[in-house]
Amino acid sequence: MGKPVMISVSGVRGIVGQGLTPELMLKFSAAAGMFYGKGSVLVGRDSRVTGNMIKHAVFSGLMSVGCDPVDIGICSTPTVEHAVKFSDAVGGIIITASHNPAEWNALKLLNRDGIFLNEEEGRRVKDIIDKDLIEYVMWENIGVSSEKTCVTSAHIKSILSMDIIDVAKIKERKFKVALDCVNGAGSTVMPEILGELGCEIFPINMEPTGDFSHNPEPVPGNLTELCQVVRDNKADIGVAVDPDVDRCAIIDENGNPVGEEYTLVLSEKYVLEKRKGPVVANVSTTRAVDDVAREAGVEVFRTKVGEINVVKKMIAVNASVGGEGNGGLILPDVHLGRDAPMAAAVILSALAESDKTVSELKKEVPLYYMAKNRIEIANANADEILKKIIDMSDESKLDLTDGVKINEENYWIQVRKSNTEPIIRIMAEAATQEKAQSLCDRYIEIIKKFTG
Ligand code: MG
Repeated sequence: MGKPVMISVSGVRGIVGQGLTPELMLKFSAAAGMFYGKGSVLVGRDSRVTGNMIKHAVFSGLMSVGCDPVDIGICSTPTVEHAVKFSDAVGGIIITASHNPAEWNALKLLNRDGIFLNEEEGRRVKDIIDKDLIEYVMWENIGVSSEKTCVTSAHIKSILSMDIIDVAKIKERKFKVALDCVNGAGSTVMPEILGELGCEIFPINMEPTGDFSHNPEPVPGNLTELCQVVRDNKADIGVAVDPDVDRCAIIDENGNPVGEEYTLVLSEKYVLEKRKGPVVANVSTTRAVDDVAREAGVEVFRTKVGEINVVKKMIAVNASVGGEGNGGLILPDVHLGRDAPMAAAVILSALAESDKTVSELKKEVPLYYMAKNRIEIANANADEILKKIIDMSDESKLDLTDGVKINEENYWIQVRKSNTEPIIRIMAEAATQEKAQSLCDRYIEIIKKFTG
């Protein structure tokens, strides 16, 4: 799975014990501290077994340059974002490798508004490391560490006070919710928010041990156990989150995965019924987003893949709703980041207000199928491959926002390179799963020919 350690403008990630070392984490955190300047920096982590070791390196790095790290413990990524935004901290560090398997870990940096660093800010941190600009402070100026609790409750309180979430109506329905937190940080926030919403919870994988009970990416193939729990308990809905709880996937009342793309689509439809305004999504997100926006009479803006790109555009166009098709809903109401507990609350509110089931809500939006593949390209030049695909395509159908996307009337296909691994990602969306997969297969063949 690629190189064991990667330092980029979006942080540092790797396999612990195989490149991702405490020395590197310390150095990266010291560089982050230099970038932040003096002040407190909130540090949260998901439940990975390596998180505690890395936390100590992060604390050393921050304190060594005069920052004051604040341990907020195991909590979700959106909880850290929320906590940073509503504190006087100068920044935040999240120790998480998101949906990646247990051997991975990573550091992600937040600015003082609780938003991921943008490319330019990330480059400044990377420069501090690359150019050896870390200045350790003298002994009498070393930072002071502390702890802070209750950040999760504060986050939940903010979500439940959002205008668009009808807490009373949700409570009335006494929803039966099957919940899979994959033994990640979701175990801290998800049962609490669902409890506050009066739900009866049927939980699985709720120990925050980092011992992921299945591949932690919340895509249908990994959620068979949760689907069974929905059926066994005749639940109204199944909710799955990834280890750091920024992605949310739902299962309908029959135990069928709704598909992670539809977390955003169903939320978008509900939000636009409440308030009209632009929608922002990355270019890899389902076309159903455009259909729902057209119906509501609002514009859609597409961005490069990457949460920060969506967030930046949301700020620029004053968006009503935004997100990514991987189950990442972003609303401007509380903080600007993907938020799974918020997504769950929004979907429950949509169910409560409409008095419909999940499968009925899904029937109200256009249905597309997506295929996602990846191809290893070893030493081949990804840019040259993309250039060849551009050359062979009809120019009027091209969207070059991120990689190469070819928009046809009834389907689209996108080919883009990974910035962190020697692979090319191929995605297609069409009216049937077979059609989407055959589009991917066709481009896999083409790329194989190009790479010899
Ligand atoms: Mg994640």
